[in-house]
Amino acid sequence: FDEIKKADSEIAEAITSEMERQNSHIELIASENWVSKAVMAAMGSPLTNKYAEGYPGKRYYGGCQCVDTVENLARERAKELFGCEYVNVQPHSGAQANLAAYFALVDPGDKVLGMNLDHGGHLTHGSPVNFSGKYFNIVSYGVNADGVIDYDDVREIALRERPKLIIAGASAYARTIDFKRFRGIADEAGAYLMVDMAHIAGLVAAGLHPSPIPYADVVTTTTHKTLRGPRGGMILCNREAADKFNFDKAIFPGTQGGPLEHVIAGKAVCFKEALEPAFKAYQQQIIDNAQALCRGLMDRGARIVSGGTDNHLMLVDLSQEEVTGKDLERRLDDARITCNKNTIPNDPRSPFVTSGVRLGTPAVTTRGMKEEDMDVIAEAIVLVIKSEDNIEKAKEIVAGLTKKYPLC
Ligand code: PLP
Repeated sequence: FDEIKKADSEIAEAITSEMERQNSHIELIASENWVSKAVMAAMGSPLTNKYAEGYPGKRYYGGCQCVDTVENLARERAKELFGCEYVNVQPHSGAQANLAAYFALVDPGDKVLGMNLDHGGHLTHGSPVNFSGKYFNIVSYGVNADGVIDYDDVREIALRERPKLIIAGASAYARTIDFKRFRGIADEAGAYLMVDMAHIAGLVAAGLHPSPIPYADVVTTTTHKTLRGPRGGMILCNREAADKFNFDKAIFPGTQGGPLEHVIAGKAVCFKEALEPAFKAYQQQIIDNAQALCRGLMDRGARIVSGGTDNHLMLVDLSQEEVTGKDLERRLDDARITCNKNTIPNDPRSPFVTSGVRLGTPAVTTRGMKEEDMDVIAEAIVLVIKSEDNIEKAKEIVAGLTKKYPLC
């Protein structure tokens, strides 16, 4: 960091401010986490200097001996962690992993069935403003009035529409996803099944959410959410699917150029950490904290989509409240609690305003917080939902907690 200060004071200042922000705020964005110092150091290593188009042993550049070691370690550890036969650790992000999976499985114009963005799906699962919505013929499924996926409804849509590809996985869904059921539906409809486990990858690695690996033709993920690695993506499947669809070719040269070997090193370090017994305890604490936060909110009268959570996140339903998702996000930020506005199923408000906020516990759990702290956070959130006038009071509650858990 001293080097940055010497070379570029403006960037150094922005980084310092961000560190202060992270220390002084409670981080409840469900897709964020704090990496270990070792993961951070790998990303800032000289591996960033290296071009390495291709794969270990088959590169288009000389001098790749060391990055080959790095990438092979990342691949072997990921296979062990998720119990699969093939992995590609090169996707620059979750969206890139999904782009490559589409590239390998479907052609432009093909029909794809994904979860509606407004019901918890991701942009890359068929939003009209994303490549997925522009290049493919998208049909979607959602959640029922109770806020849970209605598998009979998914089946009905799949049998009616006969998509070539079905996508399971979500960005804002608090319940366990039944991948076996999705496999059955895909088989009946004659479709491929892709599972995007980006949000729950850490829980899957720890055995706390059923794994999609035995059921999906391909699994995509990010590495930076519950998994607590560097920002990036990954593709996983069994050997047969890897040979049939050639996901390696879909990443390079299909949709990417040179891999980010410094980030791949960060992924390798993250997978080593995730193979330790402490990682399972960490993931269990994430779930325990999410359920404690949910209880704390509901006990104080807040409404939660689907009435609870099985994983690391929850959606607060503000449709009966005066405050919108957009306003609550701002109010909470003023109280030093960071979260994001989110549409709720059948949201009457626009995606820029919304009637919900999404809350998640991976980052606060990394910080060391436990169930009793979640109750304190719930108190602060409900105060702010009730009135803008309570922001100062909530800020004091936050200050107590951030002092209790100094970060760095
Ligand atoms: N898939 C899901 C389910 C996600 O929630 C996200 C990001 O939030 C992505 C893919 C995209 O990941 P990235 O932001 O790394 O492109």
